[in-house]
Amino acid sequence: MARHAETNSNVSRRHFLGGTVAGVAAGAWGGALAGTAQAQTGVQEIRTDVVICGSGIGGLTAAVRAQQEGASVIVLEKAYEPGGTTVHSEGVVWTSESYEQIRETAPYGDPVVQGTIFDNLPRAFDFYDDLGAPLGAGRPGSTRSRQIPPVAWVNFMVDEFERGGGTLMVETAMLRLLTNRQYEVIGVLAEGEQGLIRILANAVIVATGGWAGSAQLVTQNITRYFGSLHQRNASFGGRKPLLTGDGFWAASQIGAAPTEEGWDSFYGHGMPARPTQQMKNPLTNYSTYHGNWSVVVNLRGRRFADETQGKQDGPPRGGGEQLINQEMARQPEATSVYIWDEPINARRACAACGLGDIDKFVAFKNIGGAVATANTLQELAKQMEAWGRGIPAEVVSQQLDEYNQAAENGKAWALPIPKTITQQAVPLKQPPFYATLVQTGITATYGGLRVNAQGQVLSRSLRPIRGLYAAGVDIGNHSNYVYLGNLCVGAAFGYISGPNAAKQPAPQGGWETGPLT
Ligand SMILES: Cc1cc2nc3c(=O)[nH]c(=O)nc-3n(C[C@H](O)[C@H](O)[C@H](O)COP(=O)(O)OP(=O)(O)OC[C@H]3O[C@@H](n4cnc5c(N)ncnc54)[C@H](O)[C@@H]3O)c2cc1C
Repeated sequence: MARHAETNSNVSRRHFLGGTVAGVAAGAWGGALAGTAQAQTGVQEIRTDVVICGSGIGGLTAAVRAQQEGASVIVLEKAYEPGGTTVHSEGVVWTSESYEQIRETAPYGDPVVQGTIFDNLPRAFDFYDDLGAPLGAGRPGSTRSRQIPPVAWVNFMVDEFERGGGTLMVETAMLRLLTNRQYEVIGVLAEGEQGLIRILANAVIVATGGWAGSAQLVTQNITRYFGSLHQRNASFGGRKPLLTGDGFWAASQIGAAPTEEGWDSFYGHGMPARPTQQMKNPLTNYSTYHGNWSVVVNLRGRRFADETQGKQDGPPRGGGEQLINQEMARQPEATSVYIWDEPINARRACAACGLGDIDKFVAFKNIGGAVATANTLQELAKQMEAWGRGIPAEVVSQQLDEYNQAAENGKAWALPIPKTITQQAVPLKQPPFYATLVQTGITATYGGLRVNAQGQVLSRSLRPIRGLYAAGVDIGNHSNYVYLGNLCVGAAFGYISGPNAAKQPAPQGGWETGPLT
């Protein structure tokens, strides 16, 4: 897997602001404004065929696909630049190689969503190839993985969209959906620097990237330590949350169904706890990938979950460190300590971890994260106590002794808190030993909207809501606790929802908003 270079990490704001927004503000709106009562009240009004909320992989794929069907399309983007989490990602668009494997890995996932992604991902790859979009090879022999260079891909898709006559409006957020008296979706109310805008459309696609930054939803479903989480997503490691569940809230308000499962789980990786300096792109430099190889203790010095399987019962179903990262979110301050030894450092925490030879210990240290290294585990534990975060050295030493004894006997699976995957349950024997203070990073949420195989959002009586579609991780329950890829949800559902939205006929009940809006 390639790691995108730092120089490759910023989508040019000037390009989009200069090229698109100025044009929209000065020209396109003027032409599109309808002389309606709303216009007279100061709220501008635009008419289009399809409006798409969000410009990550879900939104951009849907936008170009809808255009290819001849639709006029407006993409709204809340942030000052397009690309969302997609542009900060590692760019591996993947899911499992067989549908059976998907069901086995995430049996509580939604089979309709999982099957739709599995079936359509290769079609989405063909679509990108036909467009000439930058798209690298996948894993050897894989039919369900390809690599996008995130920044170049986003730039390409935006250019393609604009060349086709599409309008991208940055710094313009969808506030709510508009419905008519027959409860058909007829557009959105949006807000930008220019004020409020009503955009009337035959169809709306929500692709707002989930709810990792919604204090309310995260606190209700995942952890009460919302404020301690790193926003490892479009918000770039903790600045103002962008992924505030806007698609979910807006659709819920008009009767959309939430997925039945997946709400307490999410995708992410550990990141430095309270670093004193700001992180720079790429976020993967500061993301841990070796929690499952480490011994992980909380601020009380105790192991709290199986580092290899989190809370999963039954036979191991794979997973990687995302599982311990999820469990860490529920520990005090969503914080824990990863502890490992030299062989793990060399093979897992440093080099050959699949993401370039970044020494994570050094990366954490360089931005002022709490780190420790010592030649004995006792000395390491003392240094951890000296961080001043209340970690008792004595408890840590006792936990490490207990773990090491069990691991040396091949019995870590039998510990009161087991470490189930034996291959990863190695004793920490070889100095130097390492410890870093880690905080949960949240990337994409797994609970979300219920949809059918056409990408239509379903109502709470499980009927399609006329005129409303979704793409990307606003759609819930593809992954469920175990991670099965995120970009694939945007690629596959963008591929489907775009043309379906483009074919949506004008609303039968007309353009006058009903009582809800
Ligand atoms: C470091 C890192 C590495 C990753 N690597 C991978 C990987 O290799 N493979 C993989 O599958 N996944 C990966 N991911 C996860 C993946 O990038 C995301 O889950 C995926 O990009 C989500 O796509 P999306 O289109 O659903 O949402 P996003 O790309 O987040 O786009 C949503 C957009 O909607 C906008 N928005 C929100 N609210 C509104 C509103 N009200 N109005 C208008 N716009 C709004 C947001 O600002 C955002 O731009 C990674 C993530 C990170 C951070």
